[in-house]
Amino acid sequence: MLNQNTYIVSNWKMNGTNALMHDMVKTFIEKTVTKKVTPESAHTNVSWIFCPPASLLTETKRHYPTINLGGQDCHPKRAGAFTGDISALLLKESGVYYVIIGHSERRQHHNESNAIIAEKACMAIECGLIPIICIGESEENYIKGQTLAVLNDQLTESLSGIRQHITQAPFIVAYEPIWAIGTGKTATLTDIEKVHSFLRKQLPDTPLLYGGSVTASNAGDILPIPHVNGVLVGDASLKVDEFKAILEAAGAY
Ligand code: PEP
Repeated sequence: MLNQNTYIVSNWKMNGTNALMHDMVKTFIEKTVTKKVTPESAHTNVSWIFCPPASLLTETKRHYPTINLGGQDCHPKRAGAFTGDISALLLKESGVYYVIIGHSERRQHHNESNAIIAEKACMAIECGLIPIICIGESEENYIKGQTLAVLNDQLTESLSGIRQHITQAPFIVAYEPIWAIGTGKTATLTDIEKVHSFLRKQLPDTPLLYGGSVTASNAGDILPIPHVNGVLVGDASLKVDEFKAILEAAGAY
């Protein structure tokens, strides 16, 4: 059964500082999640999943042990000679419970295919993490009315590993139209509702998030859309006041 939690995922990408992390976490930790979360209980009492750059994870966890931390990516292999990459196992050791996988910036700048994403998702689960798997159509797909067909293919291929090898492991799916990420454009409420209804038919028990230029001024309209269980927030999650308003819209603050 899908629980009724609202997930607010903040993705700092390659931004932020140690000082901003302390400002942000001190401001929100008390008012959001204070309960210890494990992979087994992670679908209860979660409101804020904080995904800073990997270099800030250990420091964040050390100062704020109750925080729900997420990584921004992981390698498909458990360990090895992969300079500059980070494994799901190392994330886990840093106190992380979630990991974003298949973000469109990874798909675009690192040529990540659905097949790689499927492998990463499996490895994340094997290492005890909950993957947040991102899917989304390009502007061209959107204009041509191909959104649902593209999402269907991405979903089928990105989840193929989990479906073949792992059953019952929790994961989250984030619908992020590529043309809405970091652009100030958002999908219409009707588009979001249509996509999320489509995804819900395929994934009755999976938390479904929306991401793409979510701000203080539109979060209150997006969060109540049927089958939207939360939002993935980039730019606005780097601004304390803006992020506070998003948490307020979610009833988490
Ligand atoms: C994101 O990083 O996934 C994202 C949605 O960014 P932004 O909120 O800046 O569009």
